[in-house]
This record gives sequence, structure tokens and C-alpha cells, in this order.
Amino acid sequence: MAVALSFDSDHETIPLRDAETSPGKLSQGEFGSRVGARRIMRLLDDKQIRATFFMPAVSALLHPDEARGYVQAGHELGIHGWIHERNQQLRAEDERELAFRSIDTLEKLCGVRPVGVRTPSWDFSAATLSIIRELGLVYDSSLMADDEPYEIVEDGQPTGVVEIPVEWIRDDAPYFTMDRYTAVRPFTPPRGVLTIWQDEFNRAYAERGLFQLTMHPHVIGHRSRMAILQELIEYIAGHAGVWWATHHEIAVYARDHALASVAH
Ligand SMILES: [Zn+2]
Repeated sequence: MAVALSFDSDHETIPLRDAETSPGKLSQGEFGSRVGARRIMRLLDDKQIRATFFMPAVSALLHPDEARGYVQAGHELGIHGWIHERNQQLRAEDERELAFRSIDTLEKLCGVRPVGVRTPSWDFSAATLSIIRELGLVYDSSLMADDEPYEIVEDGQPTGVVEIPVEWIRDDAPYFTMDRYTAVRPFTPPRGVLTIWQDEFNRAYAERGLFQLTMHPHVIGHRSRMAILQELIEYIAGHAGVWWATHHEIAVYARDHALASVAH
């Protein structure tokens, strides 16, 4: 079975997208870079695990050393929009322009051209697939039609684009984030989340399938949550036959093996 850990390094881009520039809001995102990402990098290094980091280009411009650090440590860097834009609210040509600007910016900063995308907030618009194909990407990781990797089809025709599916169940944000001025409050204790993710892993392990997880440095990077991430990694590492891989590696494997058998 395969385990794919991913981290969306949004940092300050979510308030910046909405033109919110208050130091208070920005500082919450800044924590992701100053503290969260560093803790995650240390944990991954300690456990000798490679992961995939999806980073908005503006976040990478604000934190270029961090973006380069991911690549230098052997992790994968993927596209995550320009400024965490809401694709469905954009005109197709604007979404396309920002996507091209994003991939070029990440390549220029880090020296590696990304091969995969996670749309910000998994906001995959009607225009997104054609942009992905025009960019020549290997995979997307924003859709939810399966637990296992699958090929995205367009008008019933194969595209060769692999989907590494996500789910809110396997995302830290819904469990932990809050909004001070609405009724949205974290309702799941970290150890409750650990139990959910262990159950997701256990079934994936039994099916010899994929366990994919989405986290955010500004969310999971806090002490009580890093504790459960470390425990989860140690729990998984106690199982034989687990392949820790980047999203790109899993997409290539799926394309060359599993998807080929479906096509025939
Ligand atoms: Zn994000």
C-alpha cells in the first residue's frame, strides 16, 4: 500500500486573497511558515519520509527559502494557485493566466517545474481540466470520486491526467480551524482526529490501497496537533509493506500500472 502525506503551505495567502491585511490575521498565517513548516520538516527528516508540499506562488514569493528548502530536502513541490484564489469565481482566462504564472514562479524560485496541482480549497472549476492539460501536468489532487488514484476523463475520453483523490475526512482544516466572528469552532479533539485517520489508514492497508492525507502548516503545526501527526507516522511505520511516496510518484505508478490495466 502507499502513504502520501501532503501539506498545503498557504500561510498568509488566504487573508491576502481577500485583501485582509490586519497584522492579527496575517500573523496566524505567518505561524505556518515561522513555526509549523519547520516542525513538519524536522519530523519528516527525523522519520526519513518524503512528502508533497503544495504552495501558492505568492506564499513562495514571501518565503522563498522555505519553498527551496522543500525541494532541497527531497520533497515534491506542487502548484496551489497564485494567491489561493477561488477558481469558480474567476473567468476562465484569468484562472489560466494565474495557473501559468504560478508554475513559472515556482520553477524560477526553486529550479524545478511542478508536475502536479492541488486547486486552492479544492475549487476545481469547469475550466481547470483544460488548463491542467495545457500545462502538461501529470496529476491533479483536488477531486473526490474514489479512495484510489484514477484517470480523469473529459467528455468520456481518457486524458492521461491522474487524480490523487482527497477528502475532507483526511484534511486537518475542517477539524481544527475556527472563525472568531462566526459559530465555526473546532469540534474534534486532536486525539479524535488521530482515531479517524488511523481507521482510514487501517482500511486502506487492508485493501492494499492508498492512504492520502492533506494538512496545513498553520493548522497541524501546533503542538497538540504535531503530537498526533508524529503518533500517526509512528503507527503507520509499525506496519510492514508501506510505500511512503510523493503524490507525483504515486501518480506515475498508477499511470504506468493500475490505470493501464483498466484501459485494457
Ligand atoms: Zn490551501
